[in-house]
Amino acid sequence: MGDSGITVEGVLESVVRITEQRSRETLEQCLVTALGELAGITVVTIARPLRRSSGTVVEILAHSTPEGMSAGGMPCAPLGDFPLMARALADGRDTVAPLPDGGERRCLPVLDGDDVVAFLVVDSVDRLAASEAVVRAFLAVYRNFLAILRDSERDTLTGLKNRKTFDDNITRAIAQTRAAMPCRDERRCHQDDEHHWLGIVDIDHFKRINDTYGHAFGDEVLLLFAALMRKVFRAEDLLFRFGGEEFVVVLAPTVAAKARQTFERLREAVEHFHFPQVGRVTTSVGFVRIDPDDIPATVVGQADEALYWAKRHGRNRVCWYDDLLAAGELKRHDTEGGAELF
Ligand code: GH3
Ligand code: MG
Ligand code: MG
Repeated sequence: MGDSGITVEGVLESVVRITEQRSRETLEQCLVTALGELAGITVVTIARPLRRSSGTVVEILAHSTPEGMSAGGMPCAPLGDFPLMARALADGRDTVAPLPDGGERRCLPVLDGDDVVAFLVVDSVDRLAASEAVVRAFLAVYRNFLAILRDSERDTLTGLKNRKTFDDNITRAIAQTRAAMPCRDERRCHQDDEHHWLGIVDIDHFKRINDTYGHAFGDEVLLLFAALMRKVFRAEDLLFRFGGEEFVVVLAPTVAAKARQTFERLREAVEHFHFPQVGRVTTSVGFVRIDPDDIPATVVGQADEALYWAKRHGRNRVCWYDDLLAAGELKRHDTEGGAELF
């Protein structure tokens, strides 16, 4: 686009390129590249706030400078390190700071209702005099894309993540475990280390609830159950509805005792909650540690075995796969090349 500034053809070409993207990552990379080509603009960053139990952090998703574009993958940093983003997050409005060269840095929050879901940060030499309208149009395209993405990733009844997004999420969790483990060369890691954990959570005798009170009350139980899950787990834990009355939780790294405690807390919260009309509901959980060399199907299979052991032994209980192995209640199936060898 160069110094001739903005042409309709140039903008349309960028819009076509941007809307061709199927993944969030490549869309964000295209967007920062397109914005970086606009007149007056030097540096473009897309970032997002992530709620953590320790406070909000910022993840940089894509960044472009006159030297080139870099994708995310950087560690998250505390929100306090980014004062413009912190103010934009608090107010839901643009924040601006002058740059030493006479230009400005502007942080535009991307809103989903009242929630700030991302930030677009743009450095310009001309205070966006030449490109503000185009920047805002691109911001609107990005906001709409994020809304479509959010809807496609959510379960419509409970608002939890749906099963379709599970593979991506679990693969990322395993890759993180692999990258973060000091013991990654060992086949099995130490008991006291922090790991991701996967739990399958299944409501007990849910069919009876439907049969006795009707499907609408069944749905109400699912909704309230999802709300209890949100309360018990931390912001960094991933909650999925896998279908029916089956949920999957991927715990952010923690030690074994904490993982067990957390799943027990859910079991107790459900047991003691009064569900309208239905009354007492219980739940069973099978959980397993995610090791760096695990493949998703194995982890889910092991958690499922622990869950079904819990179902066969009275329900309303939380079972750790490793405990059941150690007690001789379950046997490990060694897998190789996807085939089970007994
Ligand atoms: P268990 O304790 O062994 O888990 O028994 P269960 O009855 O909970 O399990 P089962 O798998 O036999 O029954 C699950 C029922 O969940 C059957 C199905 O009709 C019902 N179901 C599945 N999806 C939904 C839904 O979206 N809403 C409602 N209300 N019911 C659903
Ligand atoms: Mg069930
Ligand atoms: Mg079930």
